[in-house]
Amino acid sequence: MSTNCIFCKIAAGEIPSDKVYEDEYVLAFRDISPQAPVHILVIPKTHIASAAEVSAENAELVAACFAAIAKIAVAEGLGKGFRVITNCGEEGGQTVHHLHFHLLGGRHLGANLL
Ligand code: 5GP
Ligand code: ZN
Repeated sequence: MSTNCIFCKIAAGEIPSDKVYEDEYVLAFRDISPQAPVHILVIPKTHIASAAEVSAENAELVAACFAAIAKIAVAEGLGKGFRVITNCGEEGGQTVHHLHFHLLGGRHLGANLL
């Protein structure tokens, strides 16, 4: 656990969250400020600062996040589609420095990324 990391604290149960999925490696919970009808954050329980810190050594955790995303999408009724976003670093707009994937859906999100 990384000191003062809010998502490590959520993963440890020290800060409450609206949990939608959990397994040995992954936790998923609803974003506190949703940008779409479904807006879920999917995180590895182990601290990885961002996508820039993904390596061959920890890539299994990223794979576990995506396996969870596929299951959550079904559970949330996102059969028509969804979007997965990870913000990385200052110019990428990352505000919480613990790797997380935004799972967005529940409406037509459009073709533009920005
Ligand atoms: P970022 O901007 O780093 O990609 O995304 C961080 C996300 O975390 C934001 O969408 C923000 O609303 C969400 N967030 C920040 N703090 C909390 C929190 O304490 N609980 C939950 N559920 N979401 C949070
Ligand atoms: Zn963390």
